[in-house]
Amino acid sequence: MDQNLVKAVRAAGVVGAGGAGFPTHVKLASQVDTVIVNGVECDPLLQCDQRLMESRATEMVRGLQLAMQATGAERGILAIKKGYRGAAAALRRAIEPWREKLDLSILPLESRYPAGDEFVLVYEATGRLVPETGLPLQVGCLVQNVQTLFNIARATRGAAVTHRLLTIAGAVAQPKTLWVPVGTSIRETLAWAGGIQPPRWSSRTPEDYAVVVGGPMMGRVAPDLDEPVTKTTSGLLVLPHDNVVVRYMTRSRTSWVRRGISTCDQCRDCTVLCPRYLLGHDLQPHEVMRAINYGLARPADQVTAALLCCECRLCEAYACPLELSPMAYYVSIKQELREQQWVNEVHKRTDFEPHPFREYRLVPTHRLIARLGLTEWQDQVCALDESDHRPSQVTIPLQQHIGAPAIAEVSVGDRVEVGDRIAHIPEGKLGANVHASIAGKVVRVTETTIEIRA
Ligand code: SF4
Ligand code: SF4
Repeated sequence: MDQNLVKAVRAAGVVGAGGAGFPTHVKLASQVDTVIVNGVECDPLLQCDQRLMESRATEMVRGLQLAMQATGAERGILAIKKGYRGAAAALRRAIEPWREKLDLSILPLESRYPAGDEFVLVYEATGRLVPETGLPLQVGCLVQNVQTLFNIARATRGAAVTHRLLTIAGAVAQPKTLWVPVGTSIRETLAWAGGIQPPRWSSRTPEDYAVVVGGPMMGRVAPDLDEPVTKTTSGLLVLPHDNVVVRYMTRSRTSWVRRGISTCDQCRDCTVLCPRYLLGHDLQPHEVMRAINYGLARPADQVTAALLCCECRLCEAYACPLELSPMAYYVSIKQELREQQWVNEVHKRTDFEPHPFREYRLVPTHRLIARLGLTEWQDQVCALDESDHRPSQVTIPLQQHIGAPAIAEVSVGDRVEVGDRIAHIPEGKLGANVHASIAGKVVRVTETTIEIRA
């Protein structure tokens, strides 16, 4: 382990940019033989990883080299979507100087969902199967998102994570990909893309639209536009309220459960297409519907198998012909198991094989886009806008990562510069430091946020 690198990454507040924000310094302290770069960006309409690879390939590859050095990895695999030709060309140029010293290769993958799921990616890139409820580290792999690697490289130059590259797509005047200071409100960020704009032929008004934070599969609808952009915000998608994605994301868990009880016909489509089932995990969503809906002798293992669900939403948004959501059941069960402090001794299998028909059951992104009612925006180009957008005020959350919230170390009235540390990891806890994303004066400190006015 490279202690100095881990220290620099910890100090800079780097977290996993593609997922829930796991603190990167912790991952870098492990030992693996392969680092896999996740550049497949499988959630439809998002383009931020593509634009980052096109415009910052050299720095991202430097981050990969550092991650390999820290973890002792001998091999680096850059997994990208087949259609990302510009990104592939930029990466080829960027890895050229390292050819003699490092084993680096580019792996173009078909555009399928969820190709970016860590377990799926590890299998596609190495043929290794991550154990049930396990981690890629258990099979010698570390998976890192492209923006995380970019931030690792910057951390070694003393630069903290202050900005987030994200895509603004859907019904906006100027769809684009841009750098946004962390803590900027969604409202102000949308204004930099010209604001919500219904198409000319439509009678809709801006009030008829919702904003999805993240992608249409893994994201969620923003409850209000004052919500701040964080280190993990990959996109803002403006979609009409009656779009399938918005409808699904805003349906309550109780409503999903009620629908399931009344209509599930046990067709098994949810199981047939479940990506974790196809890898060989003992996750069969139709079984949980049967167990709960019909009150038959409950196969307890199929209920606690909720722990195997990666919440990719495929069963709910694509597979089920009746608009039912096994995932909603699994999310509730997981919560219950956590509350009961249930100890998993069951779902830890390592001896399994992928389903023999897996290859034929993978879901092409264009079919998913059609099912989600997103065809109107599938060819939208969200080009990179390098302008230095500066908000008048930011509200920076103290928790943008997995672990304990950071502890504020500034007070109202303090002046801060971009990159100054304003909150730190609590002693002995898992967490990430937080930094000022604009220069200005601290105007409010609460238990959950720090507000800075420019
Ligand atoms: S796909 Fe839908 S209807 Fe079929 S088993 Fe699954 S939940 Fe039930
Ligand atoms: S959300 Fe559905 S399809 Fe995805 S892993 Fe969970 S059960 Fe399988």
